[in-house]
This record gives sequence, C-alpha cells and structure tokens, in this order.
Amino acid sequence: MAEQERIPRNFITDIIDDDLKAGRADHVATRFPPEPNGYLHIGHAKSICLNFGLARDYHGTCNLRFDDTNPVKEDMEYIRSIERDVQWLGFHWQEPVRHSSDYFDQLYGYALELIDQGLAYVDELSPDQIREYRGTLKEPGRCSPYRDRSVEENRALFEKMRQGEFAEGAACLRAKIDMASPFICMRDPVIYRVRFAAHALTGQKWCIYPMYDFTHCISDAIEGITHSICTLEFQDNRRLYDWVLDHISIKSRPHQYEMSRLNLEYSLTSKRKLNLLVEKGIVDGWDDPRLTTISGLRRRGYTPASIREFCRRIGVTKQENTVEMSALESCVREDLNANAPRAMCVLHPLKVVIDNFGADGVTQSEFTVPNHPDKPELGERTITMSKEIYIDAADFREEANKQYKRLKLGSEVRLRHGYIIKALSCEKDAEGRVILVHAEAVPNSVGANVENHKPKGVIHYVNAADCVRVQVNLLDKLFTDPNPGAAEDFLSVVNPDSKTVILDAAAEKSLGEAQPGDTFQFEREGYFCVDSKDFKAGQPVFNLTVALRETRKAQAQL
Ligand code: ATP
Ligand code: MG
Repeated sequence: MAEQERIPRNFITDIIDDDLKAGRADHVATRFPPEPNGYLHIGHAKSICLNFGLARDYHGTCNLRFDDTNPVKEDMEYIRSIERDVQWLGFHWQEPVRHSSDYFDQLYGYALELIDQGLAYVDELSPDQIREYRGTLKEPGRCSPYRDRSVEENRALFEKMRQGEFAEGAACLRAKIDMASPFICMRDPVIYRVRFAAHALTGQKWCIYPMYDFTHCISDAIEGITHSICTLEFQDNRRLYDWVLDHISIKSRPHQYEMSRLNLEYSLTSKRKLNLLVEKGIVDGWDDPRLTTISGLRRRGYTPASIREFCRRIGVTKQENTVEMSALESCVREDLNANAPRAMCVLHPLKVVIDNFGADGVTQSEFTVPNHPDKPELGERTITMSKEIYIDAADFREEANKQYKRLKLGSEVRLRHGYIIKALSCEKDAEGRVILVHAEAVPNSVGANVENHKPKGVIHYVNAADCVRVQVNLLDKLFTDPNPGAAEDFLSVVNPDSKTVILDAAAEKSLGEAQPGDTFQFEREGYFCVDSKDFKAGQPVFNLTVALRETRKAQAQL
C-alpha cells in the first residue's frame, strides 16, 4: 500500500502517540472483531481500515477475531465471506484467525473467579423479570432476590447451568455491580446465559455462552490488544469493560476507545436489516451490486483502493454524521478514471447507414486506438467500422437547437476515433420513432481536421457488423429515503426503479471477451463492471459502477 495511505491524524492516533511517548505502551496491537452473523458492509470497512491501518502505520499487529458467542445466528458462510472481504480490501491479519470461542474455557475460569470473590451470582429471575427489575434511566433498578447467594451456592448452580440442568431463560450468571448505577449496563449485567444450540466451532461442548461485554474485554486482554476501538454506542459499556478487567486475575490491560459509526446516505449499515433484504428476495443476495456491502461493492466494480481512500477521507472522529453517497462515488470514479480501460458500448442502439462508405477517402475500416488516453501501458486495441454502425438513440435528433452537440439532420459530428459524419435523412416506424439514419462520411477525416467541416461534438458508436449484444444493468439508489435505517419500515422506502435492465446493448467486439470483475469506462456513459455471478464466456453482463460526472441526464438538458 502506498505511503499516502497513512491514516491522517485523528484523536486515536493522538492517544497512541501519547501512550507510546509516555511509555504506557511500547507497541500497537489492534483487532477487528466482527460477529459472523452476516456479510460486512461499508461501515465495517471504516473499522477495518482504521484497525489494520493503525497496525500498518505503527508497525504493530491487527488480529481478526470472530465474535462468535451467539451460536444461533452464526454461520460458516459468514466467516468465509468476512475473511475474503478483509483480504480483498488489502489487509492481512496476524495469524491465526481468532475466535471468541477459542477462549470459552478461559472465560469460564474468569467467571468462576468473579463468583469466588462474591462478584457474580446465578439469577433465576426470568428474562422479562430481569428487564423489569433493571429500572430505567430515571429510576434505579431493584435487586434480584437471588443476589445474595453464597459463593458455594453460586458455584453449584453455575455448574448446574453448565451441565444443562436449567432450561434456556431459567437461570443466568450476573455480575454483581450496582443496581443503582446511572449506567444501566452496570446494573448487574448478565454475563452468561443458557443456550442449547450447537456452535459452529465448539459443537455441543457448551450449553452456556458468555455475553458480549464479558467476552470482549477478556478476549482483548488474552490477545494482548493495546487499543480496542469500537463505535460510540459502547461508550457506557466501557465502564463494564474496565470493571471486568479490574476484577479478574489477567495481567494484560487493553483500553477501549469509541469513534462515531459510519452512516452513509441511501444505504443500510446493519447486518440485521441487510439480512432482511436478502431473505425477502428484494436483492439478489448479500453481494447484490446495489448494496453497500463490501461484496456488493466488489461486484459493482469498486476497487479496494477506492474504498480505502473513502475511509481515509471520512476520517475518524467522535461526531455522529451521515456521509453523502457522492463521497463514496467520487472515490471510485477517480480511481477508475485513472485506471479503467476505455471502450465503446451503445446502450440504446440506433442504426446509421453510411451511404458513401467504400467511396474514395471513406474506406478505413480498422482503427488502432489507445485503451486509455493517459496510460500507454494499458495498450491498444482495434476497433472497426463498416457501412452500418450503431449510435445511441439519444445521440440523434431530426431537429435541435445550437446547444445540441450531437447528430442532427444536416449537421456534422465526429465518430469517436473515426470519421466526421453528416446526417442526411431518417426513416421512422408506424409510431413515428426513428429507426434508421442515413449519413455520409467526410472523406479523409479520420484523425484530421478537414477544411469547411466543423463537427459540433464527438459521439461513440459500434460497428453493426461485428458488435456483441450484451446485457447492461443500470443501477440506481436502492432506497428513495436518504436515511432508510431511520424509516419506520425501511422496506417501504425501497426504490422500485433501482435496477433497469438493458437486454441488447451493442458493445464493441473486444468487450465480448471481458471477464468477471473487469471494469471499463464506456465512453460518454460511465464505468461498468462485468458481473461475476452466473458468468458465461462471451456473454458478459455489465453493471453500472458509477456514472461519469457529466451524466447523460445533465447532457440531455443542454
Ligand atoms: P451490525 O449492526 O451491522 O451487525 P455491528 O457493530 O453489530 O454491526 P460487528 O460485526 O459487531 O457489527 O462489528 C465489527 C466491528 O465493526 C465492530 O468493532 C464495530 O464497532 C465496527 N462497525 C460496525 N458497524 C460500523 C459502522 N457503521 N461504522 C464503523 N464501524 C462499524
Ligand atoms: Mg453486533
């Protein structure tokens, strides 16, 4: 990764710098701790870029740790997808991959330590009662009648829980902290519960599972994490994080720091909500290119560098805010503008017959053109033309005012990389739609100015004789509401027009060989990426990655 990818200074790098300077730390160890209950989204990319980026910039380490304490919702498919996404983004974790479940034995031991100090008890209130006893922000909680059990009794009952002798919800282990704390998370939080579910990694070994707040801080300490970064909603929980580590025998002492979440306009950053879109079939899987999941962005043609650059630009702060979609789009546009090969594809083909093709000075049928205007290293290709070509229907009008820089009857435009042509007449169908244009080419006008011929603009075209017919998916925002996550029912703000399928766009011949994941700038249209799902050789399907800044809509207004 390039040097300019260093994380710009932020409050966390300030903390690290201070810690290193004051000798509170002599290295940096971070972790990225996803729960494997869905695919990663753009919000996770922010956390990945920060945690792995800090490890890179400070020559430290970053662990990938699956926070797999809820056997009911977790799945190997999610584990594999998360590993793939982190690697695809360009990061490497410190081997091996960790799992909270690797520490179940140790966590159990630390729970016993709390019991032995009179700092944890087995409660037999029901989950509803526990909630009721917990109180509210205005009212203190009440103590459970089981709170003052003896150490021996708690040991015996916790063992009974472990042996599977309590039904789910019939008993749990709670830390004994303070039922009157202004921080609700400190009102005797549950730290172990009964779940009769097979775990993806530990199988049937356990029927009690530790809760997040108990697990996370201890896992950090076991791994020697120095700076444990999470999002702001865990601010209060930091007290519990510290309380647990203060009361068990572990030596290592990580610290938790909170940053604001990434919220992105028109997209969801909640695995639970994304899962609903997938389950209801509203999108074509977790990697639907309209989703801002990492796999969806990949399928759409986003590059890892563009996502890293986006994360660099949004920065790391404690202020909650919502980032505009255009911020993400401009990152990929800049990257693809610099790196994607150019090609021509006519989305709405209209046939043009060059009546004088073959006459003197109008015989050139092959043109060698660069794949990129500024990058000779991307090579060259040959495009062809013949008597019949296709242009985009939007690039022809019978009449138009002077602002119209495309083809109209009686005036001239240049074909990209080719001849100047002049439209002579057109044919229409019964409904009055133009179905064919007759034109003539200006002799010897390829790559040359010709006296008395001043084409108004340049339009793209393909050769009707050898173009390939391809499917192009024009993708738009998945939601009509910029903040779908806040909508009462986010399913009601799904954009019904988020995908427009063009079945028979006409692409220049070379595009027939495009491979899954290949990205191109279709000249004058935008950036497009070959879909990687159900790929058939010779029949690429293209997804719109992002429009050119100058969209066709804007052009059409001219
Ligand atoms: P989700 O609601 O999507 O499940 P989560 O926070 O529960 O999100 P985790 O798998 O627990 O998801 O998250 C792994 C890491 O990614 C955590 O450290 C979390 O703070 C971070 N993270 C998740 N969402 C965002 C976001 N929108 N912005 C920044 N960091 C995030
Ligand atoms: Mg979570």
